[in-house]
Amino acid sequence: MLTRVWQTRPVTHIIKRAAVGNAGYKSNINMCTRNIGSIVRRKIQAIPTLISRRSKVMTAPHIIQQHENKFNEGKLYHGFECVRVESVPEFGIMSYTFRHLGSGTELWYLDRKDSNNVFSINFRTTPFDSTGLPHILEHSVLCGSEKYPVRDPFFKMLNRSVATFMNAMTGPDYTMYPFSTMNEIDFRNLQKIYLDAVFRPNLEYLDFLQEGWRLEHSKIHDKSSEYVLKGVVYNEMKGAFSENSSVFSQNLLNNLLPDHTYGFVSGGNPLEIPKLTHKNLVDFHSKYYHPSNARIYTYGNFDLQKTLEYVNNEYLSQPKGIDNAYSRIPSQPRWNKPRNVHISSRFDNMGAPFEKQNQIAIALLMSDVMDTQETFVLHILSELLVRGPNSSFYKSLIEPNFSGGYNQATGFDPQIKDTFFCVGLQDLYVEDFARVQELFDKTINQVIDEGFEPSHVESVLHNIELLLKHQSPQFGMGLLFNSTPLWNHDGDVVSSLRVSNMITNFRHNLTKDAKYLQRKVEQYFATNTHRLTLTMSPDDHYEDNFKTAELDLLKQKIMALDETKRKEVFENGIKLEEAQKAPPKLELLPCLNLTDVQEMPKMPSIDILRISNVPTQVCHVHTNDISYLKLHFNGANLNPDEVMLLPLFCNVINDMGTSNYDFREFDKLVLSKTAGIDFKLHFAENIYNSKSYLLGVYMTTHALDKNAADMFSLCNELLTKFTLNDTERLSMLIDNYVSNISVGIASSGHLYAMQSCSGLVTNAAKLKSQLAGVEHIEFMKNYVKQNKTAEISEKLKTLGQKLFLKNVMRCALNTSEEFYPSLVKHYEQFLSNMPINPDAKMRGERDISLLEPSQQHFVMNIPVNYCAKAFYAVPYTHRDHPTLRVLAKLISAKYLLPVVREQNGAYGAGAKIGSDGIFSFFSYRDPNSTKTLEAFNNTYQWLQDHNAELTEQALFEAKLGVLQQLDAPIAPGNVGIDYFLYGVSQEMFAKYRARMLSTTVDELKAVVERYFKNEPAHFGNCLLGPENKDLETETNLKWKIIV
Ligand SMILES: [Zn+2]
Repeated sequence: MLTRVWQTRPVTHIIKRAAVGNAGYKSNINMCTRNIGSIVRRKIQAIPTLISRRSKVMTAPHIIQQHENKFNEGKLYHGFECVRVESVPEFGIMSYTFRHLGSGTELWYLDRKDSNNVFSINFRTTPFDSTGLPHILEHSVLCGSEKYPVRDPFFKMLNRSVATFMNAMTGPDYTMYPFSTMNEIDFRNLQKIYLDAVFRPNLEYLDFLQEGWRLEHSKIHDKSSEYVLKGVVYNEMKGAFSENSSVFSQNLLNNLLPDHTYGFVSGGNPLEIPKLTHKNLVDFHSKYYHPSNARIYTYGNFDLQKTLEYVNNEYLSQPKGIDNAYSRIPSQPRWNKPRNVHISSRFDNMGAPFEKQNQIAIALLMSDVMDTQETFVLHILSELLVRGPNSSFYKSLIEPNFSGGYNQATGFDPQIKDTFFCVGLQDLYVEDFARVQELFDKTINQVIDEGFEPSHVESVLHNIELLLKHQSPQFGMGLLFNSTPLWNHDGDVVSSLRVSNMITNFRHNLTKDAKYLQRKVEQYFATNTHRLTLTMSPDDHYEDNFKTAELDLLKQKIMALDETKRKEVFENGIKLEEAQKAPPKLELLPCLNLTDVQEMPKMPSIDILRISNVPTQVCHVHTNDISYLKLHFNGANLNPDEVMLLPLFCNVINDMGTSNYDFREFDKLVLSKTAGIDFKLHFAENIYNSKSYLLGVYMTTHALDKNAADMFSLCNELLTKFTLNDTERLSMLIDNYVSNISVGIASSGHLYAMQSCSGLVTNAAKLKSQLAGVEHIEFMKNYVKQNKTAEISEKLKTLGQKLFLKNVMRCALNTSEEFYPSLVKHYEQFLSNMPINPDAKMRGERDISLLEPSQQHFVMNIPVNYCAKAFYAVPYTHRDHPTLRVLAKLISAKYLLPVVREQNGAYGAGAKIGSDGIFSFFSYRDPNSTKTLEAFNNTYQWLQDHNAELTEQALFEAKLGVLQQLDAPIAPGNVGIDYFLYGVSQEMFAKYRARMLSTTVDELKAVVERYFKNEPAHFGNCLLGPENKDLETETNLKWKIIV
């Protein structure tokens, strides 16, 4: 989502509801098939809805134009003066800006008929060292406050709420505390907790030790045991920088804007974090969390008066306003000549060969973020320069195929005071560094000479128009994330929402001056001397150097200890352990009641039809003039070799053009009429018995209603006339694909560990891991080595011919009732053009078999571990499934988080059960491995020892945790997707939900006995992390080591 933003909760917890809840494998499959090679990750945040583009979970807020002003300019409401009222018609928003008279706190309210309400408190936090001060403060304020002196109320509230989003984040120059919920009681509860946390945190010394860093005996009760460095953020950052792309983008920021706050690591450099003191933290809080330096954001349809009244009475009536100029950030002074910086990185043993594992980026400082029109223009320029096969840098840097494609830093970044553009390549030889610099200059000069093709510009504008219409259920949250960087510098956030105005201005400038864009390129790219070339190469000693530095630091810390300090360290270790083990005073925290959540969110019904003999489901929803099309192609007719090629097939098939259009023309056509045509591998276990699974390819696209006919004919064109003949291009796409699949493992290691672990339990999960997990990387590398591109091309061609058939296809259409008759006509036309192969079978589930217990360890060159244990439990429709799901939540909240995170220092941990019937445990960025696996194994014992804690309240909290997933809002384009992909009907879902809510303590205990008492018959353990020679002796198990 946001780059260089550190969050309190690991991403693992915010992945919402992937269909029936098995977020793990779905997001991994997406990871492998999404088209990273040609579509650069979008970084522009200036356009409000862009962020939602990749979001899968969306709702249908019924937007009605506001007619009356609820507040008037110049009037006072509970101490807040309303200073600006404006409507933003393109989003159906009334915007009200308030300023608190006493404290100067700004409050921005976006009134919109959307039930997914958002609240956030933001502060401008500007660190002047890399100790991670703002980040550790962000963690610490959530550890208890004046009204809620409860250890970790934030994590405790996760299970006392039905929030649709809850987290806290530290950016390079801001810290924010956002949440969203559709339930008003919940909204008020969370608002109270968040406000008290930020304005009146306890910031106790022990919290600092837990969240920041501490020196501790490795055996807490043994004074003679060695000292170790610990801390949640300390480990989090060690984990974060084990991903080379994070190291690269952090260094890019620090070196491109070195002169002020951006020269530091706001999240914390692990080797600097231990310089931070508790006093630094308390002082920073009183300065930067002053109400005069705060901005409050609220969005949705709940009553604002209540918010104003509460905030004013409780938090703003006392403090006197101060001038917050101290936190303002000046522009970076411009350089008069370019700079070069070289850094080293760890060698990623899953990535490219050592000598090719280099990266380069050229970054240029651009406009002031306050100039929103300029930001908009630069976003368009960036799209024209880097995105897709028609873009200039794609042609000059990617197509010659001397690298593994764009790196993660590529794109336009408007998230800080001075915006910047960056284009970078991954996996190239050092010898090619100079070539990249030459090609960069040559490309820019060529663009200045020749300009851009008007049809290319139009396709970019069309995509923005489509994004404005596309409804997201996290719309309010998206606006907050997009507006925060601008708002943080006192920018005009209301004007930045007027995207239509910006488009009009842009068009006007284009008409007035045919060379408008070329002049901009000249200004920002050709004559811009604030240019950084950053290069990065792997260093064999990187990890050892870090370890030595860490050890030196530890030694220094130990040397500085006198007798009293030693005693203190020992006692603090014990005190902290006691505090962590003491039962939290949960009764002090608000909680919802069962009656608040009993009612199921209403869902539009789905019509199941057969149109031209093709199973078709239709859902009438308010789609805001967009038609959504999903197709599913059954892979029953593919042989095992072909199945293995599906992820690659999905990745390249929409990037090769057709027999009528070359890939450039086709890409332009697709983007000028649709949002793109995407393919994903799809996998669905039988929800009744988990004994078989279906495999196929899932295609999605959407278009404005007026372009629906074109959308269908473009699908016809691609599905019936795809081509794979251009082996040179195919070879480039394959190389980029192979480079990209190894990126991101260290940051989503828990998903990979769980997936691979499930693969030790069933053959279906094993295949899934081979298609989308760690195993896929090795498979692809070997496959490419052993097969010529021409052969791969032939195989992919056969695969396409076996898949894209009318008689193995199903379809889902989401559209408005009014447009449906027209849409269905286009649809029938589309079907009539699809080929049939009478030999192809529609049925064809593949059998699932259970495997014998085993263990595997993927040895990775990283300083943290990702542990997983999985076992086969029951299928989705089994009556125990919802109970196990509640139990997984309970174990996560009551056992794994306190032990594995708080006591043992991992960044995250949890348990879950998937729709495939597999129950999994995981840890995230974990300093331990065998200790955590032992914790997983001790679950039954813990449940026995804490029998008294299995109360009605604990059970209810766990149910709320499950409800957050079940009731998460869904986008209009995605209503009915659970049925389409997994066969979960609305009735079935209602039954599941009711069953989950009615679970009793006795049933829970019975399930514990049934599934946890004895070692399960089919289970596996999996570890991703550094070499561990004692693994077998410590676990007493046989491990397969994969290096
Ligand atoms: Zn964090």
